[in-house]
Amino acid sequence: MEQPYKRRNLLKNKLLKRIILSRNLQPIATLLAFAPFIFVAVTGIIGISSGAKNFSVVFTWILWSVLLALLLVPFLGRSWCFLCPIVWPGELIQRKLWKRFGSSKLMNLRWPKILQNVWLQIFIFIFFGIWMVVLVTQPFVTAIAVIMLITGATVTFILFPRRSFCRYLCPPGLFIGLYSAYSPIEVRVKDRNICLTPTSEGGCEKECYSGSENGYGCPWFEFPQNMVSNIDCGLCTECFKTCPRDNIALNARPFGAELKSESMRRKPDEAWRALILLAFPLVYTAVLFGPWAWIKSWGDLLLYTNSVGMVQHFFYIILIIDIVLGIIPGLHLLASMGSKLLSGTKDISTKRLFVNYAYAYIPLGLMLWVGFNFSLLMIEWSYIPVVLSDPFGAGWNLLGTTHLPWMPIALPIPIAEVAFALSGVLLSLKVGYNSLIAIYPNRKQAVRALIPFAILTTAIAIVYVWFYI
Ligand code: SF4
Ligand code: SF4
Ligand code: SF4
Repeated sequence: MEQPYKRRNLLKNKLLKRIILSRNLQPIATLLAFAPFIFVAVTGIIGISSGAKNFSVVFTWILWSVLLALLLVPFLGRSWCFLCPIVWPGELIQRKLWKRFGSSKLMNLRWPKILQNVWLQIFIFIFFGIWMVVLVTQPFVTAIAVIMLITGATVTFILFPRRSFCRYLCPPGLFIGLYSAYSPIEVRVKDRNICLTPTSEGGCEKECYSGSENGYGCPWFEFPQNMVSNIDCGLCTECFKTCPRDNIALNARPFGAELKSESMRRKPDEAWRALILLAFPLVYTAVLFGPWAWIKSWGDLLLYTNSVGMVQHFFYIILIIDIVLGIIPGLHLLASMGSKLLSGTKDISTKRLFVNYAYAYIPLGLMLWVGFNFSLLMIEWSYIPVVLSDPFGAGWNLLGTTHLPWMPIALPIPIAEVAFALSGVLLSLKVGYNSLIAIYPNRKQAVRALIPFAILTTAIAIVYVWFYI
């Protein structure tokens, strides 16, 4: 289980350790994050219907999602999940109220085995992704989406144990979780041998999983002793509090380090997750910034009141599903077949190449999301001071910025997008080469096997950049 990269335990800093061990930090941070989301629901329902002038749309899609994609996920992984307000009501009910009823079966249903993967989460993400045009333009729809998320989470917390919602359902979690694998921060045990010490010889009682009077058992169903990936660790800090051997570290590490690790299990559902998340920034860029205005109007369901419009919208849905579930995974399948052919060995199956190599798209996908959100911020930033001054679009002028004109900063966009896409390609090829070298017995075979993937990775980046230049 040793991992081949350098790590530095940030909790050697005593102040940081005290902060992390505090029981008050998370509730305070969550409450602070909950307030704007309630305001999103209120402004979305009773505020002005123009998205650009309503706090609901501007906060959710220009401030929050950009903050997630540009800063939190790339640098701090799942840090958003630490303070996420979506789960707050449900977790409060589960931890404080439900505890009084003991372990009633109704409140502790088993999550179906067939759904213990990310397929359902993928389909919910695609569902929201399809109606992205409506979401980012209609405050009412954004408010309904936020209310649906909080309600869905609360019901799941009431019926199922721990954070089943986060593991198997949450659509933002699909994005945050996968790309946290690339972030330079991780929670891991300091010394696995301490975990493996038998209880009879002074070892622990696995409190990190089961909980103790100092904290809750891992809400994410993770067992730190065996953890080799960030994907399902919500950075909740409970295991820091419960481990009686002080054996948990918060490590700084090189970007993308865990993708090199051979002990990281590659799974088909996660491979599809990487492919679908790679496809979406391409789709969003084409729809919002591409040269075809008709795509955006076909995607706006609320524009249509007649059957011709509904047919166009139906074609739009088919097109999006085709790209994210058909074209991009299909091209990756072709690349996997080509890779097998070029490698000159039949010992490695196409399926293994398809699943293993999909993880190499994580850096490229992340950089495309960063690029898309960067352009969004550059183009739409001036709406932020407007809605802060007049959140309902009711004619207020609280900060004196209500009448600020739209001021896009378009100049740096093409250069920045080329830089994001190019770095994404190089980082992806590096991860991909490492994953192939772990499969093939010699370097020449690995290099030959890389060629089809390198062509596909470069082609995806070129198509993406084309929309901006
Ligand atoms: S997985 Fe989703 S609901 Fe859960 S904490 Fe993260 S963002 Fe919030
Ligand atoms: S409680 Fe601590 S020592 Fe025990 S298994 Fe968990 S992390 Fe390891
Ligand atoms: S308890 Fe530890 S391993 Fe589990 S989600 Fe929280 S920080 Fe991660």
